[in-house]
Amino acid sequence: MKKYEEIIKAYKNGYAIPQFNTIDAEYTRYILEECEKEKSPVILGVSEKVANHLGGFKVARNIVDTLIEELNITIPVILHLDHAKSKESCEKAIKAGFDSVMIDYSAYPLEENIKITKSLVLENPNTIIECEVGTIGKNGNEGIVYSDIKDIERIKRETNAHLIAPSFGTVHGVYKGEPKLNFELLDEIKNKIDTPLVMHGGSGLSDENFKKSIAKGVAKININTELKQAWTKSIRKFLNDNPNETDPVFIIKSTGVEIKKVVSNLIHVFGSNNKA
Ligand SMILES: [Zn+2]
Repeated sequence: MKKYEEIIKAYKNGYAIPQFNTIDAEYTRYILEECEKEKSPVILGVSEKVANHLGGFKVARNIVDTLIEELNITIPVILHLDHAKSKESCEKAIKAGFDSVMIDYSAYPLEENIKITKSLVLENPNTIIECEVGTIGKNGNEGIVYSDIKDIERIKRETNAHLIAPSFGTVHGVYKGEPKLNFELLDEIKNKIDTPLVMHGGSGLSDENFKKSIAKGVAKININTELKQAWTKSIRKFLNDNPNETDPVFIIKSTGVEIKKVVSNLIHVFGSNNKA
């Protein structure tokens, strides 16, 4: 699988490919333009919520394809469904042409998680399949359940999933206080299974934490909150500075600069620049 090879290449060469979660065409455009400029491969993350917001998985696929064509994008672009809650959702995305899906059955017993992940891997030989083990926390270090190394070994052995997202102390949303990342767990995982790992909840971590995680096998890092914050901050500032502006084209355009700053900065921290 050509697109999976991109992630393997990152894993073997000590850098990580960023997954930037997107919400619409403009947002996607800014991400793609900046990644092209930096010659960084990119994973575009779309959630079920965003696919609904856009009008369906096919809309997301078409937006990405059309932008690639119109903007002459040459870097590898992987379109990924983030945190799918059902097999049906994954199948719809795959049918619409998504390159990669994450089935999030981390809240179910391991047996169920293995069963659904395994069936997706077997039935979709041309799609990258990601699963999650343990519970990644939410806003402010709440509810983290660190992955059990035995569970990770089992899910890899029994499903052969392409990507595994362990819970090692990261949280979705905003961190409260210092994140407590369990790097020993990453070492253990690397020793037991030779598989690229995914970091969820990357927004707001220090460069040092990113670099250490990458050195220990993280080859895909998901960024969502930081982009949303940049977007909202730009819109708020623009409307404050230009209270009479009513043209959405100008209002939305103002977000591009901040989004590109976030993208460019992280690409350099992850080391994915000039890897495309
Ligand atoms: Zn996530």
